[in-house]
Amino acid sequence: MIPETVAQVEPHAQVMLNPEQDAEEQQWRQQLAQSVRSPKALLQQLQFSDQQMQQLVADEQGFNTLAPPAYIARMQPGNAQDPLLLQVLPQAAEAIATPDFITDPLAEAQFNPIPGVVHKYHGRALLIAAGHCAINCRYCFRRHYPYNEQQRSRKQWQDSLKHLAKDPYLEEIILSGGDPLALTNPVLFALLDEIEKLPQVKRLRIHSRLPVVLPDRITSALCQRLQNSPLQVIMVLHCNHGQEIDDAVEQACQKLHQADISLLNQTVLLNHINADADVLIALSKRLFKARVLPYYLHLPDHVAGTQHFFVSPRQGQDLMAELQTRLPGYLVPRLVKEEPGRAYKTLIAACTLS
Ligand SMILES: *Cc1c(COP(=O)(O)O)cnc(C)c1O
Ligand code: SF4
Repeated sequence: MIPETVAQVEPHAQVMLNPEQDAEEQQWRQQLAQSVRSPKALLQQLQFSDQQMQQLVADEQGFNTLAPPAYIARMQPGNAQDPLLLQVLPQAAEAIATPDFITDPLAEAQFNPIPGVVHKYHGRALLIAAGHCAINCRYCFRRHYPYNEQQRSRKQWQDSLKHLAKDPYLEEIILSGGDPLALTNPVLFALLDEIEKLPQVKRLRIHSRLPVVLPDRITSALCQRLQNSPLQVIMVLHCNHGQEIDDAVEQACQKLHQADISLLNQTVLLNHINADADVLIALSKRLFKARVLPYYLHLPDHVAGTQHFFVSPRQGQDLMAELQTRLPGYLVPRLVKEEPGRAYKTLIAACTLS
């Protein structure tokens, strides 16, 4: 089953699309509908033998498998250590309970005075625009998030924005989720219409993994709408490995760039996937070739079921020292850690003891 979209909740949201735009819109939605939704189907597509499959299939721990075809196409068939496969395939290690690894390590519930808004930082507020994603990443810190309680209708968005309108210092609205680009264009555009009514807001930031995992989502109608916005638009992609960027992803970035959208990337530092200087360096260079600047490198949070991906702050610092030695400064992401109760993400400097 495709998760319920706000489009289904709000069937009346309408925008006019020309036939070509309509075809583009159908195209990405179809791809989303064709996503793989079970470990077995995923492994079958990658040509694992029945015997290998028996060893590899693990319980989903209540967080279902989800990967769109365009993303699976970039995995190496038969490679159980493929860095893309490891991001989406449930593993037996998820079942191991570890003290300190909890369901809401960022205490987001505390900063959630009204449903659907996380207003922790000065001048910017995060709106949970969508209750679902186009991919389920096993390390996700929101894997235990009560999205269904946060399901938005247009009326609820209006209420959230009415609340945010009272903050005179608010300059930036961040659309996050779930994944805001998992919303259909008509629903997303209706939300943008509401945001653009707030006079103090200057910038719109969209945090999305879609340009990477389902690049056809970057339709011409989307680019046009964002280019025509009175707000300055920033898109923060989420890419963890250079292998995630193929020609289609690069072309999607090119379209966004041509629509005057500033492109940044955030990466989660993950054991077995990218906790390696060569991998991170290749990622930064590949991103830049696609006109994307590295922004944040997140140390993983203590999320229950993700301990096998964990990287210590010390390991992160050592990696940063190597990145800084080998890359121009503008290709070095900021290593950060999110701590509840702070007014900003905690910046972790490279280890200088060498
Ligand atoms: C990360 C984050 C932001 C954005 O922070 P920047 O440092 O501006 O990228 C805003 N709100 C919340 C809740 C966040 O977690
Ligand atoms: S796309 Fe982002 S929010 Fe969605 S599952 Fe992956 S990491 Fe989590």
